[in-house]
Amino acid sequence: MEPLTNWAGNITFGARRVLRPRSLDEARELITAATKLRVLGSGHSFNRLADTDGDLLSLAGLPRTVEIAPDRRTVRVDGGIRYGDLATRLHAEGLALHNMASLPHISVAGAVATATHGSGVGNGNLATAVAAVEIIRADGELVTVSRGDTDFPGSVAALGALGAVVALTLDVQPAFELRQYVYENLPAASVRSDLPAILADGYSVSLFTRWTSADVDQVWLKRLDPMTAPTFHGATLADGPRHPVPGMPTGNCTQQGGVPGPWHERLPHFRMEFTPSSGEELQSEFHVPLDRAGDAIDAVAQVRERVAAVLQVSEVRTIAADDLWLSPNHERDSLALHFTWIADTEAVLPVVADVEKVLAPLGARPHLGKIFTSAPELPRAAEFSALVQRFDPTAKFRNDFLDRLLS
Ligand SMILES: Cc1cc2nc3c(=O)[nH]c(=O)nc-3n(C[C@H](O)[C@H](O)[C@H](O)COP(=O)(O)OP(=O)(O)OC[C@H]3O[C@@H](n4cnc5c(N)ncnc54)[C@H](O)[C@@H]3O)c2cc1C
Repeated sequence: MEPLTNWAGNITFGARRVLRPRSLDEARELITAATKLRVLGSGHSFNRLADTDGDLLSLAGLPRTVEIAPDRRTVRVDGGIRYGDLATRLHAEGLALHNMASLPHISVAGAVATATHGSGVGNGNLATAVAAVEIIRADGELVTVSRGDTDFPGSVAALGALGAVVALTLDVQPAFELRQYVYENLPAASVRSDLPAILADGYSVSLFTRWTSADVDQVWLKRLDPMTAPTFHGATLADGPRHPVPGMPTGNCTQQGGVPGPWHERLPHFRMEFTPSSGEELQSEFHVPLDRAGDAIDAVAQVRERVAAVLQVSEVRTIAADDLWLSPNHERDSLALHFTWIADTEAVLPVVADVEKVLAPLGARPHLGKIFTSAPELPRAAEFSALVQRFDPTAKFRNDFLDRLLS
């Protein structure tokens, strides 16, 4: 058997085998019979979060479910479905999700489990769209936890620690169109003076920089309204399509140039049919309070040369506050500083530690699906540990990663 790795190839899973149930009953039987088990989504995380020395369980083979509620405010989906497939189905029904990540390739349950996010000061992370989760617990029982239940804030972005999420109910809204614009060379002086206005000037705004200078290389604006100006806070409208990583094919990216298009073909940066991002990379991301955005950029600038030496590109985004216990956006509007590193773990890890050191005074919280080196302070760790203990008293779904995180 080929060794099983994550998408990035930096993690070889220690699992004995991958179980691929075709029905809910089969999934329940496999979970009940297992002694150690982790659920694997689409494998896009960059650390050992999904790893186990027991069995991996993939829900990709369960029947696809997309059930729109009669009031058209929610949709119930199976845990293995990918955002790209769900989005196409929703759009065909005239419906939309509030946001998407940079790529549509990831599974809904896997993305929600790590509080994956897109951008936009008014947009919560993807887990905030969840209205209910249906979980097969370690004892094989299927339980539903809904918004309003006491356990709900701990059960959504739950890192697979409570059991296998076989279905989720998500909030939806009427479909909408967006226009995507890329502006280049945002001067450092504008970043310093106008940052809150820049980050709020669109439904979703991303800044891309390689930290080679204090200027920002690209500003990606996903807007409901058209832009008419050729400049944006001193940046210049790009004269053609761009990829965030210099030199990568622009055809892999969603359409730019202000052409109006469906929400799901503008919110992600990358198209479903192509390799997202650079394809050979590691990623880290740290969330700080939005009102410390300028300080966070100044802090990373202190280690700019070390960062730039092992970086492909960095992305700066915003996420609205939520009440989910493990969310990096727990009770604070956030700025996320994301790093697409070169695919060289040994060279990258010391620089991740440098970034953590300069961001620690700002209360930075890591994206739990990416690479970090310091033990993070989880917002509601004690409550979450108690919940895990109740759902999984025999530690069936635990692994070394969770043991370290919750110790
Ligand atoms: C190219 C690239 C771009 C990315 N862009 C973004 C981005 O824009 N924003 C962002 O926030 N993140 C981003 N990420 C990170 C990614 O969204 C997260 O790592 C996400 O968790 C991956 O989802 P997955 O389905 O691959 O989950 P996996 O990596 O397979 O699993 C993640 C966790 O979810 C658990 N899990 C998966 N499925 C289930 C289930 N059915 N039931 C219970 N637990 C489950 C696993 O046990 C594990 O703990 C990116 C990653 C890549 C590779």
